[in-house]
Amino acid sequence: MNIIIDNSIRTQRHPGFFRGMSDTKEITVHATGGGSSAGALIAWLLTPGQRKKKADGLFHYCIDYNGDVYELIDPVEKWVYHSSTGKRDRATIGIEIMKKDVRNESEPTIQQYRSLLQLINTLLENIDTINIICGHGRRKKRYGLNYKNCPGKFDWNIITDELISEGHKFKYESEYIFEIERSDEKNNTDS
Ligand SMILES: [Zn+2]
Repeated sequence: MNIIIDNSIRTQRHPGFFRGMSDTKEITVHATGGGSSAGALIAWLLTPGQRKKKADGLFHYCIDYNGDVYELIDPVEKWVYHSSTGKRDRATIGIEIMKKDVRNESEPTIQQYRSLLQLINTLLENIDTINIICGHGRRKKRYGLNYKNCPGKFDWNIITDELISEGHKFKYESEYIFEIERSDEKNNTDS
């Protein structure tokens, strides 16, 4: 996985709001619903109209079609608004997957799936309070808001299969992986 740390958003738009490491509980998966590249998306986020929105409508990571991962906001110490559920985003890490189709009906590329899995594994290893991975639309529903087709067409089995192969126990219902067990036992078998 190729991670590119892009500082342009945090220096030119908003760095995100501070949170403690144990505040982070959830990875929220999005898709962009159109967009030619991560670079073009970042440039758009820095246009005057977008810049005015400050920390609203931002996210921590974006995964380009070729699998390159752009880190825009510090996932450990900073939070931004991205899931339409207000300050609940204090507990989330937002990951955007670039998608050609404006309605998110296209499938992520193999490279995007591969990078997403590596990114999820890395975040789970580094932040031991994360116990939920949820689609954006499904997350809105959890909080009584309208479902949104985000990330849209997406094979959730790819994530659940990976978690199983990594030895995680969890529960799953539609676009919502929860109660991911975070045990010391898992850490011991890794080393
Ligand atoms: Zn979304």
